[in-house]
Amino acid sequence: MNIKKVTIAGSGVLGSQIAFQTAFHGYDVMVYDISDEILEKSKTAFQKLGEAFKTDLNATQQQVNEAMKRLSFSSDLASAIDDADLLIEAVPEKPAIKIAFYTKLADLAPKKTIFASNSSTMLPSQFAESTGRPAQFVALHFANEIWKHNTAEIMGHPGTDPKIFDTIVAFAKSIGMVALPLKKEQPGYIVNSLLVPLLSAGLDLLVRGVSDVETIDKTWIVATGAPTGPFGILDIVGITTAYNINKMEADKTGDPVKQQVVDYLKENFIDKGKLGVATGEGFYKYPNPSFKEADFLK
Ligand code: NAD
Repeated sequence: MNIKKVTIAGSGVLGSQIAFQTAFHGYDVMVYDISDEILEKSKTAFQKLGEAFKTDLNATQQQVNEAMKRLSFSSDLASAIDDADLLIEAVPEKPAIKIAFYTKLADLAPKKTIFASNSSTMLPSQFAESTGRPAQFVALHFANEIWKHNTAEIMGHPGTDPKIFDTIVAFAKSIGMVALPLKKEQPGYIVNSLLVPLLSAGLDLLVRGVSDVETIDKTWIVATGAPTGPFGILDIVGITTAYNINKMEADKTGDPVKQQVVDYLKENFIDKGKLGVATGEGFYKYPNPSFKEADFLK
């Protein structure tokens, strides 16, 4: 199937990035959100993305202008979807919102439209029925700062048509992504199935007093050649996200070490507004964290 017109639902952090990336690679993109005010605000995000593409990818002003011209905006779902070949959903990570959205969309979208969800933590089988077209539904998961961290994990549910899956793999490549197909459903896809245990292990070593932040990061960097250790990564991900994931885990399992991690993050970071790179301080201070200093690894 030939994809030409793409609608992105949700103009927040990820939705705006996916929309700009897709327009930058030549597609006509319709951005849908729940109100014109929100869409108006998102235009500032698109301006910033244009600047980031110039700085990080050496994009020219002309390329940025052309990408901007391919973006349209609508808060009316019926007209936002009426000719879409592909809909990428980046609405809030709340099951009730996503189900309500897909249920409404199912009635309005043309038969041809493929639906793809960018959900980080939910499985496509959770929503397949509410889409009204389970065979044309997959997860297409991007990472934050999509233009630099250009992974696209593609994950079907048992009822996804393999041809649709392949179409989305090809689409992901066509917008400059490294396409990473999964053969079965996996909570957290590949990236978070690898990353979350690493970050948890780092926090576990820290709160049990086995070692300190810098030594743990240094160990990982020297031993594996990775550019950043678990605490440097936690600062990039954001302490709030780490806190939420650990809290969910602690509430579910009652694990006392997880609870210790939760209390530690709340007291030392959340309550003090030290939320990582975004606020200028987390485990390290930014823009010049000590792990980037020349003698850090000595
Ligand atoms: P966000 O809160 O920044 O943006 C969500 C947007 O959806 C907002 O603009 C909101 O107005 C809009 N919205 C709310 N209800 C809507 C509806 N019914 N229809 C259309 N739009 C609606 O959220 P985000 O961080 O961009 O996350 C969106 C999705 O992307 C989530 O599923 C999340 O798991 C996933 N994701 C996020 C990240 C990340 O780092 N932020 C990374 C990968 C994937």
